[in-house]
Amino acid sequence: MNLKFVAMKSSGAQEFRNGHLDANGQAPEQHEEGFGPCRHCLSRIEGEAMLALSYKPFDSNQAYAESGPIFLHQKACKHYDDFSNAPKLFADETDLIVRGYTKEDRIQYTACRITSSQQLTQTCKSLFEDSSVSYLHVRLGPTNCYQYTVERA
Ligand SMILES: [Zn+2]
Repeated sequence: MNLKFVAMKSSGAQEFRNGHLDANGQAPEQHEEGFGPCRHCLSRIEGEAMLALSYKPFDSNQAYAESGPIFLHQKACKHYDDFSNAPKLFADETDLIVRGYTKEDRIQYTACRITSSQQLTQTCKSLFEDSSVSYLHVRLGPTNCYQYTVERA
């Protein structure tokens, strides 16, 4: 089984850079020197201009569509396009949350794990053996912040 690691779409990132309101109905915060993972290029923001905003990584509003804080490079950055490989962004993490969702965007409670970055690809492949799992969200364990989505390639 092949995996596809999916970052925020360029169109979505550009909307926020243009001041599109976030999941809380507020304009993205602008920080001159930000630090953290950019959800569009899936690399680190290192003292660069950054947006902080509330993001809901779902297409529709429903009970399971939670939102939370994310960061974006304020200036245009290259969309993560190494789809078949896990981002190196969290290469040393011991606690990544991998949460399975059904095609109806419901949490598949039997397909949720905490794993290390070294085990991430194998964990994702294992969870996709359950045909009811449509996609996975990867979150950083200590903060529970959404990072990116994993799909079947
Ligand atoms: Zn970026």
